[in-house]
Amino acid sequence: MTDTAPTRFVIAGGGTAGWMSAATLARFAPPGTSITLVESDAIGTVGVGEATIPQFHLLHRALGIDEQELMRATKASFKLGIAFDGWLREGHSYIHAFGPVGRASGLMPFHQLWLRARQAGFAKEPGAYSLNAVAARAGRMRRGQTARGQEMPYAYHFDAGLYASFLREYSEKRGVTRVEGTISAVARDGDSGDIATLELDSGARIKGDFFIDCTGFRALLVEGALEAGFDDWSRYLPCDRAMAVPCEQGGEFIPYTRSIAHKAGWQWRIPLQHRIGNGLVYSSEYMSDDEASATLLANLDGAPLSDPRPIHFTTGMRREHWKGNCLAVGLSAGFMEPLESTSIHLIQSAISRFLTVLPQGRGEQSTRDWFNAQARFEWERIRDFLVLHYHANQRVGEPFWDALRTMELPDTLATKLAQWRASGLIHREHEELFTEVGWFQVLAGQGVEPAAYNPVADALPEADLRALLEQTEAITAQQVGQMPGHKDFLQSYVGGMARPEIPA
Ligand code: FAD
Repeated sequence: MTDTAPTRFVIAGGGTAGWMSAATLARFAPPGTSITLVESDAIGTVGVGEATIPQFHLLHRALGIDEQELMRATKASFKLGIAFDGWLREGHSYIHAFGPVGRASGLMPFHQLWLRARQAGFAKEPGAYSLNAVAARAGRMRRGQTARGQEMPYAYHFDAGLYASFLREYSEKRGVTRVEGTISAVARDGDSGDIATLELDSGARIKGDFFIDCTGFRALLVEGALEAGFDDWSRYLPCDRAMAVPCEQGGEFIPYTRSIAHKAGWQWRIPLQHRIGNGLVYSSEYMSDDEASATLLANLDGAPLSDPRPIHFTTGMRREHWKGNCLAVGLSAGFMEPLESTSIHLIQSAISRFLTVLPQGRGEQSTRDWFNAQARFEWERIRDFLVLHYHANQRVGEPFWDALRTMELPDTLATKLAQWRASGLIHREHEELFTEVGWFQVLAGQGVEPAAYNPVADALPEADLRALLEQTEAITAQQVGQMPGHKDFLQSYVGGMARPEIPA
């Protein structure tokens, strides 16, 4: 950090990760920093990634982006959570909603009270006590506090291509230089081994002090040049393909993502203002591409707007996200399927963490070690949460689901499950992304039954417990009853809906 020269940042790749990195650096890097982004029109972007989580607001607030402008520009809709249809068994559905579920009482978190009430036979599904879940099912939406002072956290569904364009405009206005071209070689410094220059097909050479690899699955810099290594997690999350297709609007304009279990994977349904984003995530061991394509097309709510597009992936993460003078952000850092819409969040979190230690040169090894340890913790805990959805299924007799139900679990997840099964204990370690409330909704939704609840929950007289649940349910339903429909609310908030997309 003794180096006084302004850092020249070079971002390789202009998908969601590249432009999020560019925008954040443009806003926060010290004056005198130069930022260049190289992207290849010939290669293009992955073109999916349209559902987010509420933490996303933090980024836009930090960047000073107006929400209504963002939602208009990206043809966004509101998202209150994710419905998991058929994940426990065919015909069953639960919502993992954002925001609180129920109310704690005394020393006990709500889920312990719920377990007691459930054992006594008078608890409804957790969703009945969640403002977000009830509003989602009713197709209602509002922002800000309800009359009873309750917030309803939300995220967005948006058009990924439009989001990248929006951030490109933001970044270029703040001095980011965009270079169009295909990187053909990555030249390294002979002494340090650091990346020195990106060489383009055109013959142009782009020098930098620090490089951000946003080249997607190619991981051209961090893996191609620096060989950071990859931890393959496909033994836990064996899906390795996705088939994606947008379709015309149809069905209800719901304020939540749907994740629909199928024979060998699951289908996402993401409603935007102008179309619906759909895709089938599946395991090639159990389903062919043709079958995936046919399954997807047979389960759309509107006419397809293009042919289904296959995407291949391997689940896992880079062993070192930051190596030498290169940081991997986005798909170059690794991939976990979008079951809980976590990838864009991981981009945001990588950039935010990086900014807290922004190097003037390549950075210290101890800083890189710290960064990589944080990233590993964050990624592994999300992986565990995703694995839970698959593992705790009751789709007996279906080979894909049978294999997942009986697979060996990561130790960290096995411990969490053992604690829940013994006494309903859920604890959030450090700053892992998913809180007790998230784990509770998925554990309960997936039918994982604890043997007992914490006896401290017995301190509340049964009549009071009944009243607590009944009142929470009634107040929740009453608040939702006062909310406008999702479409009406969105229209008034963004000043009219985008025109429907028509087939190319
Ligand atoms: P890309 O979009 O692939 O961009 C790579 C960039 O690098 C492009 O600009 C490309 O042109 C450039 N590039 C590559 N090679 C070169 C080269 N040689 N020279 C010059 N430029 C080059 N995330 C979520 O949060 N929510 C979701 O709902 C979600 N759904 C997903 C569904 C699927 C099937 C997949 C695969 C991913 C999903 N994701 C989701 C993840 C999300 O799409 C990505 O995290 C996000 O789009 C970031 O991608 P990226 O920018 O890293 O890569």
